Formats: sequence, structure tokens, C-alpha cells
Amino acid sequence: VLALGHDVVPTCIGCLVWLYKDGECPSRCQQQLSNESTDSYNLSITDPTHLETEAKMAIDATTNTFRIIIVGGGIAGLATAIAMRGPQREIIVLEKSRMNKEVGALLSLQPNAQKIVEQWNLKDILQRAKPTAERQFRILDTSGKIHMNIDMDGEKYGADRMVYHRQDLHSALREAALSTELPGYPASIVTAAKVVSCDCETGTITLEDNTTYQGDLIIGADGIHSMVREAVLKAGNHELVHPAPTGVSAYRLLVETTNLASLDVDKEVFDHTRQATTLIMGHDRRVIMGPARNGDLLGLVGMVPDEHMHESSNPNSWTTPGHLSKLLQTYHDFPQWIRDIFKQAPDIALWQLRDIDALPTWIAGRCIIIGDAAHAMLPTQGQGASQSIEDAEALQAFFADVTAKPDPQQIAQRIRKVFEARYKRASLIQAYSRQQAKPATEKGSVKVTLNPAEFLDYNCKYEGAVKWLEQQDASRRKLMAKRERMNTSSTGCSV
Ligand SMILES: Cc1cc2nc3c(=O)[nH]c(=O)nc-3n(C[C@H](O)[C@H](O)[C@H](O)COP(=O)(O)OP(=O)(O)OC[C@H]3O[C@@H](n4cnc5c(N)ncnc54)[C@H](O)[C@@H]3O)c2cc1C
Repeated sequence: VLALGHDVVPTCIGCLVWLYKDGECPSRCQQQLSNESTDSYNLSITDPTHLETEAKMAIDATTNTFRIIIVGGGIAGLATAIAMRGPQREIIVLEKSRMNKEVGALLSLQPNAQKIVEQWNLKDILQRAKPTAERQFRILDTSGKIHMNIDMDGEKYGADRMVYHRQDLHSALREAALSTELPGYPASIVTAAKVVSCDCETGTITLEDNTTYQGDLIIGADGIHSMVREAVLKAGNHELVHPAPTGVSAYRLLVETTNLASLDVDKEVFDHTRQATTLIMGHDRRVIMGPARNGDLLGLVGMVPDEHMHESSNPNSWTTPGHLSKLLQTYHDFPQWIRDIFKQAPDIALWQLRDIDALPTWIAGRCIIIGDAAHAMLPTQGQGASQSIEDAEALQAFFADVTAKPDPQQIAQRIRKVFEARYKRASLIQAYSRQQAKPATEKGSVKVTLNPAEFLDYNCKYEGAVKWLEQQDASRRKLMAKRERMNTSSTGCSV
């Protein structure tokens, strides 16, 4: 029996792997320890690095284990570590940072992603992350008038749109990936592990310090500057694709709502206690804001074309400091009350928004890229992290029946399925996100002409990769039948 902190996890006496909660051995070994904690076997492990080592030792004892290596411990990597948990699986996340500092910003999981994380039984863990359900988009023009309200119908989409503090969501996903309470084995997370090369055919990963890892499946979730993407494209003899500036930079601010009590604005126009995302849309600048952490915080993102910036954003950093005076100058013609909110932010962060073009492929050998590595997009629809969650669900769905070590052909077939299920949709959402960055008004006018709800149904009605493929097949068949009918009737006419 291993005692991990306060959780006592019984292991199988036959093969040493951790037993399921009901006491059954995942490798169906006949000899099992009882679920009772036995003092003489108790080994209290509080240091997470020990936890990782013990988990690894237990799993290494079996030879038929499916070994999954995930490069990158961001939202995409951690979501995949949760989705891929299962019997006879060893999941190792290699993360280059020490994982002790996530970017301070808000992040929304759109209904398409929120309903997936809810299916993963993460309700309690996510609840501790204090999410806020935001049930409306309110579009204002720069004169401060309400242009449009769009209700976000949780019932219509199968889940609410939930806003998290990025750090809280990251910690919650990490907790779930390491949890001994969820089914399957917990993942091992190795920090300060920078991957410098990836052999897609053999599944060999090399770290900066020359340590190597070999996996049956390699998942590159290493973000917009992905090195695994480079390996995948090189393996297929494709040209490399690099992140390109989109011509837009973003200011990011978090304000404590206790500082907004005396804000001089009609509550009908803006009320920070309302569970809504408010967008103030100018011709080429906009502000997007909403509450989080049970209403304690208001998060704001200000998007500005680079040529209208009064300071430089750094393409390589998410945390370049911005300056209040420059921010106020940039938003000089926006309502005074929003400029008053800016003044309450303790820090202002600035970053240059980049995205990538749709790639020729996401797969090579036994390797697949996901998340921003595969489809980094503009944040105009708040779909970046949500698309990563969809990737994780697709991997879960197409590997669901793999309960033991797969051969390279099985891996290749399944990652191809994931690619086929995800590529078209993710690429379209990338393109829609670019469209949503277009000017929101005619030049010189305050009348908002851009419709932020244009792609909402397409984005949010998603119900998982398998269903998506079925729907695609059904509409293809319908289209072919229609074409056939048209051909028959036109042939009939000419005869
Ligand atoms: C202003 C803004 C607002 C946004 N708002 C939203 C929103 O509301 N909703 C939404 O869904 N999305 C939003 N996004 C997008 C979202 O943040 C990203 O799409 C999402 O975080 C992608 O996650 P990822 O795990 O793929 O990449 P990342 O978060 O970049 O994670 C990659 C990880 O890999 C690690 N790594 C990198 N290289 C290596 C290596 N060589 N070896 C080991 N580890 C490595 C990194 O340290 C990092 O931890 C927003 C983005 C921006 C810019």
C-alpha cells in the first residue's frame, strides 16, 4: 500500500500497479492486496517528485504498458494527460518550465469545451477553481451605447461558457492529471525538462541535458513556438511553418472589483457584478472584459493594431509590461469610465498576438501535435484553449479501445483518425478568429457592423470528435444524393 500524502492507494501484489478504486487490478492480475491500509506498508510521500518516481516504478513493472509522452504542460498537455488516463497506460508530461508561474489572465472555456471537461468528472476540482458562468455578450460602441446583447444559452449548447483565472484552471487540470481519485493511472509530470529533439518514427524524445524518453505515442503540446511541430513537418518533408505577427497587440489587465465601487457609469450600461462579457468595439481597437474568481476580479483585454500602439510589444514574451499613460493615449476616444477602470490595474501586461496558418499535417510516425502547436489562433473568439480541449477529447475517443501496448501501425491509424476529425474544424475556427479581428465599424463611424455571434453556433454546438465525423459523413452523403438527383434530372431534360 502506498500512501500518497493523505490518500492511501493500494497496489497489486502481483504486478505492483495501482489498483482501481473497487480493488480490481487494471492488468487483471489475480493476486490483489486488500483495500485496507496496513501501517507496516505505509510509505508517506509528500514530495511530488517522489510521487512521480513511485508511480513510474510501479508501472514500469509491467511490460505491456502503453507509454504516452506529452511534450508541454500547458492547457493542451494537461487536458490530454487527463483524457488519456486508463488501465495499462503510463503518461509522462515533459514541461520545460518549473510550472510555478502561469500567466495572470482570464481564460474562458466555451460551451464546446466546458461540456467536455464536465464529462471528465472534474466537477469538484473545477469548482475549486472558482469559475464564473458568463451568460451574455454585451456589445457597446465607443460612445458607450449598448449596440447588442447576445444571450449565451447554456441549455442550447449543453454547457455554460465558464471564465477562469488562467492560473486556477491550470492548477485544477494539473491536480486532475495527478489525482489518484480519478480512473486510470495518474500522470507523471517532469518539470524543468526542455525537449530539444523528437524522432517521430522511433518515438524518442531528447531533453536539453541529453536524457532520453521513448514512447509508443508522442503528443506535441508545446505551444505556438513548438519544436515538435518542426519535427513533424520535417519528417513529412513539408516546409516549416512559423508563427507570424497578426498586426495586433493585446493589453492584459486584472482589476480587483472592490476598487470599482465608485465607478461613474450607468449600471444598465456596465455592471461588473453582471455575469456577462462586455465588448466595447471601436473601428480597429476594442476592449473585452468580464468577471472571474466569484466576481472578485475583472479581467480586461485591449486589442490594438500595432501601428496604433504608442509602445512596443515583444513578440517573444507574454509578460512585457505596458504603461498606463500609453494605454490611456491609445484608448483616448473610449468612454471615460473604461479609462477609469484601466487606472485601477496594479500591472499592465502587453503582448504581440501571433498565429499560424493551417498546417499541411499534424502527424508523422507515432507523433501528433495538438493545441497551439497545431492551430494557434487569434483570441477574438476565445477558442484557443477550448480547441485544445477538443483535441484531448478526440485523442481519448480514438484511443479508447487501446488497453495495452499498441504497435506502431495501430498508433499511426489512430492519430490519422484524430487528425481527420480535428483538422477541418480547428482550421476553420482559426480562419473565423482572423475574420473576427476585422474592423468592427466603418472608418469614422461608431456604428458596430461586426457580429461577434456570427460563428457561435458552429463553435459551440460541437459534441465530440466521433459525433462530428458522423455528422460530416451524413452531410457528405446528403450532398452527394442531391448532386445525383440534379444530374439525373438534368440528364432527363436533355434526353
Ligand atoms: C489575449 C489572449 C486571450 C485568450 N483568451 C482565451 C480564451 O478566453 N479562451 C480560450 O479558449 N483561449 C484563449 N486564448 C488562447 C489560449 O491561451 C491558448 O490557445 C492555449 O493556452 C493553448 O494552450 P497550449 O497548451 O497549446 O499552449 P501553451 O499554453 O503555450 O502551453 C505550452 C506549454 O509547453 C511548454 N513547452 C514549450 N516548449 C517546450 C519544450 N521544448 N519542451 C518542454 N515543454 C515545452 C511551455 O512551457 C508551456 O507550458 C487566449 C490567448 C490570448 C493571446
